[in-house]
Amino acid sequence: MITDTHAHLDYPDYDADRDEVVERARQAGVTQIITIGIGRKSIPSSLALCDKYEGVFAAVGVHPTSLDALGLEEWTLLEDAAKHPRVVAIGETGLDYHHEPFDKGRQRDYFLRQLDLAKRVDRPVVIHCRNAYEDAVKILREFGRFRKEPGVMHCFGADRATAEQVYEMGYMISVGGILTFKNAPALRELVEAMPRDRLLLETDCPFLAPAPHRGKRNEPGWTRLVAEKLAEIWKVSLEEAARQVAANVKRVFGI
Ligand SMILES: [Zn+2]
Repeated sequence: MITDTHAHLDYPDYDADRDEVVERARQAGVTQIITIGIGRKSIPSSLALCDKYEGVFAAVGVHPTSLDALGLEEWTLLEDAAKHPRVVAIGETGLDYHHEPFDKGRQRDYFLRQLDLAKRVDRPVVIHCRNAYEDAVKILREFGRFRKEPGVMHCFGADRATAEQVYEMGYMISVGGILTFKNAPALRELVEAMPRDRLLLETDCPFLAPAPHRGKRNEPGWTRLVAEKLAEIWKVSLEEAARQVAANVKRVFGI
């Protein structure tokens, strides 16, 4: 029914109760979770979670804020993981000019390498972008549209003009707990105005828990709270909102 398209289920935050977290998600109707494996430790852990839990899939890559988590000399680890049957995307990759210090050139290099990998294995990319939308759009445009559904800008936080550029290139946007925050009317207006077949839902857990849990550890089951907010914004039933988003998930990730 509902897919959490962006979870960090391998984080130690869940070591004590991961089974319960996954079970609670199922109970809430969140039957699919894409966990993000980033770097030499997180990639194998994420694949292990795919093997352990039904309905868990993975994206594999290197996060722009922790490029040291996978050196170029160990790149085959990522290349091999990308061929795993439960890997549905490459990433998260992208640009982050928020967390200091950052090296724009090196982020761009890693981003391009992961776009190239996505193209070769025919998987969409999951893009993380913070304070860097202009450069990210430029890189994506230069790289070119490499498949019908090239991927998603996760935790989308830019304006409508940027969203339109992202759509033009074929990408979707994904929103999470922020959609429920009192101080985020602009995001709700964006979501209301944008085409319904271009939107995905996520938690980005353990971060960004939706209301009424804001500030707590987030978990995949709470994607349902984001879906409920989306239904309210779209003025449709939860079932109808979930059906539309599920069709979007299917088109991008094939699950
Ligand atoms: Zn993430």
